[in-house]
Amino acid sequence: MSVLDIFNRLTRRADLMNAMMSKIGVADEIWKLPDHAGVLRRAANRCLTCDKPDACAHWLAHEPHPAEAPEFCHNRDLFARARKKADHKSQPVA
Ligand code: SF4
Repeated sequence: MSVLDIFNRLTRRADLMNAMMSKIGVADEIWKLPDHAGVLRRAANRCLTCDKPDACAHWLAHEPHPAEAPEFCHNRDLFARARKKADHKSQPVA
């Protein structure tokens, strides 16, 4: 694998992770976390080892308004927790 191949892999996975966070509406919530740098670094590492980048890209292109990441996403649990937190904050105070 050449340096360019490695760079392309890093860039593609970062793009997929960013698109996934935007698609399910958790990007802002994750960036607000006190340890967002560490959280994002660990999430990026999981993306780098994900064996389904093509399925990820296909899912992103065909799911208009998903509430959660697909079953095969290695960051599904993280994104679900962030989504739950974001949804909880948007609830009106009774
Ligand atoms: S499916 Fe894989 S590549 Fe896509 S966001 Fe999840 S971990 Fe990253």
